[in-house]
Amino acid sequence: ATDTHGPVARDTSEVLRRVFGYDSFREGQGEIIDHVAAGGDALVLMPTGGGKSLCYQIPALVRDGVGVVISPLIALMQDQVDALRAVGVRAGFLNSTQDPDERRTVEATFLAGELDLLYLAPERLRLESTARLLDRGRISLFAIDEAHCVAQWGHDFRPDYLALSALHERWPSVPRIALTATATPATHAEIASRLNLEDARHFVASFDRPNIQYRIVPKQEPKRQLLELLRTEHAGDAGIVYCLSRSSVEKTAAFLVEHGVEALPYHAGLDAGVRAANQARFLREDGLVMVATIAFGMGIDKPDVRFVAHLDLPKSVEGYYQETGRAGRDGLPSTAWLAYGLQDVVQQRKMIESSEGDDAHRRRLATHLDAMLALCETVECRRVRLLAYFGQHGEPCGNCDTCLTPPTTWDGTIAAQKLLSTVYRLQHERRQKFGAGHLIDILLGRRTAKVIQFDHDTLTVFGVGQELGESEWRAVVRQLLALGLLAVEGDYGTLVLTEASGEVLGRRREVPLRREPERVRRGGKAAA
Ligand code: ADP
Ligand code: ZN
Repeated sequence: ATDTHGPVARDTSEVLRRVFGYDSFREGQGEIIDHVAAGGDALVLMPTGGGKSLCYQIPALVRDGVGVVISPLIALMQDQVDALRAVGVRAGFLNSTQDPDERRTVEATFLAGELDLLYLAPERLRLESTARLLDRGRISLFAIDEAHCVAQWGHDFRPDYLALSALHERWPSVPRIALTATATPATHAEIASRLNLEDARHFVASFDRPNIQYRIVPKQEPKRQLLELLRTEHAGDAGIVYCLSRSSVEKTAAFLVEHGVEALPYHAGLDAGVRAANQARFLREDGLVMVATIAFGMGIDKPDVRFVAHLDLPKSVEGYYQETGRAGRDGLPSTAWLAYGLQDVVQQRKMIESSEGDDAHRRRLATHLDAMLALCETVECRRVRLLAYFGQHGEPCGNCDTCLTPPTTWDGTIAAQKLLSTVYRLQHERRQKFGAGHLIDILLGRRTAKVIQFDHDTLTVFGVGQELGESEWRAVVRQLLALGLLAVEGDYGTLVLTEASGEVLGRRREVPLRREPERVRRGGKAAA
């Protein structure tokens, strides 16, 4: 009874043309599609915008039965299904947003063999009733989208994904294709092992997105800096601005609107209806700026996003890559801009320290953050570093801030010694909490109320740092934190020494530091 409607066509190129209206496959697609259409298992690593969807949609159309797509993006299933139906593909979905009647209708269609593709939320697959339903139909393949969610080592782990290891046991003859746009070598290996895809063919595309210009700037007045970027380079462009907290999303959106930029907020605290409406407007209208937490964006297919701006430091390079990857899917020049400052490092270290979970989990978070900091503080090509993080090779690109305006390094050894010995002195006043601001006051010889209260103007280090200014000292602290030569402890952001600090204090280690280039403006030319 499942054969009431056979495959659309046997030939994959014909399906590409007739159903999707495209002339030719993109790089990698043809091979992957042939392999999966022939019943092979595949693990696909391909950047955002590379064209992953067709890699399972076309095989599902040329094979008998229904292609089952597992995706965590419940909010997008309706859109995905609508888009497929618009080109004549018989698609449906099952997730928790439906009422029982809707679900029964989809189930009946599935059993009648009248579906080409069925989208499923991972938590549904864990239900025995869903498994029994699948048993009664005919499955052409399983596609596991956002496959990095199965990796605990990754940055976006979802426990529901672990259950997907059972697919192979329960339906051993059904081919599986897992896809992700972000995976370090470690995450790649973990996906393969957790999903039993070691024997699958692995297709790894280049992660380079040459049309994206990467820029990371010191954070001073973030909202003003953002406004300047929008006015000078992206007036009237669609873009996404990421903030860490809901309140900064609200404030930033309001600030932009006040200054004549059409901006909308998006975060999990907003009413679902407002969220959906804002997302729909962003997708349909031209030139809107979405100010959002990272709750926004996964699976969003808007080709002409011209910039992605981060006002706060992402927690990992994977997150940064994935978020910036939403810019320029149409291949046209786009900007990935991040403002980052000392406060980001302090705040994130504190968040890690107070996070739930075991030590291993905290160490994992710290490793992710360290890699992100290293990317921020590098004097090398950002793209080379980014690709290296994903285990890929790149050449200096000429299209990132460090290539366009190379930063210089300076010998920060003496400055580091001064700072670390100040930390050392204060560390002995155990009950007190002294953050970066107070330390810098001491180094600059400022007799603030707090300095006087604690007699810190009598320390031998008082006033020894006047060769640098306040912002330069903040850059020193930031970089020492990034280099692991300094750490943050407790709720107040108290700076403490690390084991490696001893090497600097004992003059066994030099500390080259990054000097920020002159401000980069307008396509990378340094301001006069
Ligand atoms: P990903 O999931 O890898 O981010 P998508 O599958 O959403 O990418 O594809 C990105 C965009 O590229 C979509 O708009 C899609 O229609 C388009 N696309 C995919 N394959 C082709 C192709 N062979 N020719 C032209 N456009 C394509
Ligand atoms: Zn570069």
